Amino acid sequence: MQPAGLLMLIEIWCILMNENLINVDNLKVYFPIRRGIFLQTVGYIKAVDGVNLKIKQNQDFAVVGESGSGKTTLGKSIVGLIKPTRGQILYSFGEKSFDMSKELPIDVRQSVQMIFQDPFSSLNPRLKIIDTLKEPLEIRGFLRSRKEIANYLGELLEKVGLKREYLYRYPHEFSGGQRQRISIVRAISMKPKIVVLDEPSSSLDVSVQSQVLNLLQDIKKEYNLTYIFITHNISVAKYMGQKIIVMYLGKIIEINDPDKLIDKPFHPYTQLLLSTVVEIKSEHVEKEIKIGEPPSPVNIPSGCRFRTRCPFAMEICAKTEPPLSDHEGSLVACHLYSNKKKEISVNNS
Ligand code: SF4
Repeated sequence: MQPAGLLMLIEIWCILMNENLINVDNLKVYFPIRRGIFLQTVGYIKAVDGVNLKIKQNQDFAVVGESGSGKTTLGKSIVGLIKPTRGQILYSFGEKSFDMSKELPIDVRQSVQMIFQDPFSSLNPRLKIIDTLKEPLEIRGFLRSRKEIANYLGELLEKVGLKREYLYRYPHEFSGGQRQRISIVRAISMKPKIVVLDEPSSSLDVSVQSQVLNLLQDIKKEYNLTYIFITHNISVAKYMGQKIIVMYLGKIIEINDPDKLIDKPFHPYTQLLLSTVVEIKSEHVEKEIKIGEPPSPVNIPSGCRFRTRCPFAMEICAKTEPPLSDHEGSLVACHLYSNKKKEISVNNS
């Protein structure tokens, strides 16, 4: 059998077995704070502080939280742009597992792509679109001649609603929405399995946002992609994720199906997030929670990290960090529920 045929069989087998694509194991990402002439380390920003997650093929997650919750750092770690301080991210590709923080074969590295909030960040302003887009294809050795590359990229541009001739223009000649469509082409041109999308529509006009989100849904189906969608907007999370992960100060504090999470949020922080969204204000928000500012990720409160803003805080909340536990089908990290069910590991099956 040809190697390509064998690879396809392995992929089909993985899909049938619905194996975990990504295993995030106790991920911690700390950024040192350095001061003085010798740049001594005086503390750490704990951007991600012990995240466990299993992501299966075609199981899309939307990660929500305020700025500083660690969601972007988690996304960048998954694509290998940030190395963990502790813990590990394993990626199943074919029949092998790869540590995302290590040097990876080019086809493995390119099969996990990221789309950023600012489409300018992935487009070189001095290069024509074709010259930016062709570079990773040349590195991978996908296509040989400039004509082949232009044909391939031209087809992809048409798929995202742009004209082929835009390949020969510069980034400044496009609107924000068009640039984001070009970023989408850049990501899918590598035929990825997983795409991490970091607020891909939030910098766009409201009128363009829904077009880009719909396009992303279409692209996902056509290319059989698995999305990890990072957003601060819970309405967008509901639209883009099969599960919503809520993060607070570097930790996952609740995971549930979008409808269930919005209809009946358990964690007081999830209730706070929902109380700020007029159109999906939940009936199950029991107490008014002060919005306030989250504590510094340098000095995270003891016990439950939400306790300084929580109207339900109890004595135990200052002493013991609540584990993520199963409560009525939701995974929630809160002492209000943690003694009702036993602690379980984060497996979103
Ligand atoms: Fe509030 Fe305690 Fe639950 Fe934390 S563990 S969210 S402080 S009730």
